[in-house]
Amino acid sequence: MRVNAYAAPAAGRPLAPTTIERRAVGPNDVLIEIEYAGICHSDIHTVNGDWGPQPFPVVPGREIVGVIAEVGSDVTGHRVGDRVGVGCMVNSCGECANCRSGNEQFCLNGMVPTYAGTDRDGSTTQGGYSTHVVVDAGFVLRVPDGIDPAAAAPLLCAGITTYSPLRRWGAGPGKQVAVVGLGGLGHMAVKLAAAMGAEVTVLSQSLKKQEDGLRLGATDYRATSDPDTFAQLAARFDLIINTVSAPIDVDAYLSLLAVDGTLVNVGAPAEPLSLHVMSLVGGRRNYAGSMIGGIAETQEMLDFCAAHRIGAEVEIIAADRVNEAYERVLASDVRYRFVIDAATLQ
Ligand code: NAP
Repeated sequence: MRVNAYAAPAAGRPLAPTTIERRAVGPNDVLIEIEYAGICHSDIHTVNGDWGPQPFPVVPGREIVGVIAEVGSDVTGHRVGDRVGVGCMVNSCGECANCRSGNEQFCLNGMVPTYAGTDRDGSTTQGGYSTHVVVDAGFVLRVPDGIDPAAAAPLLCAGITTYSPLRRWGAGPGKQVAVVGLGGLGHMAVKLAAAMGAEVTVLSQSLKKQEDGLRLGATDYRATSDPDTFAQLAARFDLIINTVSAPIDVDAYLSLLAVDGTLVNVGAPAEPLSLHVMSLVGGRRNYAGSMIGGIAETQEMLDFCAAHRIGAEVEIIAADRVNEAYERVLASDVRYRFVIDAATLQ
C-alpha cells in the first residue's frame, strides 16, 4: 500500500512531501488510518542527526492516533473502527527478561523504534507523519473515549515519558516535584504530577509562560535565569524531572534536591553532561534516566489521563507547516505540542 507522507531526505534538510510503502496487513497486524501525529523534539534531534548516523529518508512521528481500518486474521484485542494510538516503538522480541517484565522499551534484543529502526522483517520503519501505518497489534494502544484525539496523540510519547518516572519515583501527595523546561514533555509532567497529588514547581528559562504553568497545575514557577532561584529553592525537591533538550548545569539542579531526592533526566541532548560526584554524595542524592515506558504502563497512563480528563495542549497544523513548527520548537516557542492533522496529507 502506497501512502502519502512527509519525510526528511537527509540529515538537517527540510521535510518534504513524499510517498512510502506500508506492508500488507499480516495475521498479527493492524492497519491504522492516522488522524493526528504529534511533533516531539526527538523527531527534530533525529532529523538533525543529533544522535548519530541513521537511515534517510526518514518519516518521523511517534505520537500517533488514528482509527483501525483493518485487522489481521489472528488479532483479537482490536476491532475495525476502534480509536487507537502508537508510540515510540512498534515491536520487540517479546521473550527476553525485559520484555517479559513489561519493559519492552529496554528489549535485550533491541526494541523496534517507530521510525528509523529496523523492523523484524528487515525493513526500515517509517513514522506517523503519514496517512496510514501498519503495526503489530501488541504495540497498539486503546485510546479511551473522552480524550480528544488530537490532544491524545502527544500522550503516546510526551505523556508516557513523564508518567513513568513520576510513578516510579513516587510523585504523589506530600511530595515536592520540580519540572525543568515547559515544552511538550514538561507541560505533560506538570499536568500528570499535579493529578497524582504532588506539589509542582516549574523551572523555566524565563517567566514568560508563568500563567500557563500555574493554570496547568503548578503552584510555583521560577526562572532559572535568575540566580536567586537556586539559592531560594536549595534542598527543596523530592523529585526533579528534567525535560530540557539541551545540556543543563547538573550540579546546580542536584543542589535543589532534598536528602534522598532524585533528578531524572528524560531530556536527551546530543552533548554529554558532567557533574561533580560531591553533588550526589552530599545529601545522598540520585541522578537517573528514564526512557518512555512499557506497553502496559502506556495503557495505564492513557486510562489515568482519561480518568483525570488530561490531554495535551496542542496547536494543530497542516503538514506543510512542519518545517516552521520545527523552527518554533527549537526556539522554545511551542505551546505546548504541535500536532499534524493527517487529513492534510491526503
Ligand atoms: P520541547 O517541547 O522543545 O521542550 C523542551 C523545553 O526545554 C523547552 O520548551 C524549554 O522550556 C527548555 N529548553 C530548551 N532549550 C533550553 C536550553 N538551551 N536551556 C534551558 N532550557 C531549555 O521538547 P520535548 O519534545 O519536550 O522534548 C524534550 C527532550 O526530551 C528532547 O531532548 C527529547 O528528545 C527528549 N525526549 C526523551 C524521551 C525519553 O524517552 N527519555 C522521550 C521523548 C523526548 P522553557 O522555555 O520552559 O525553558
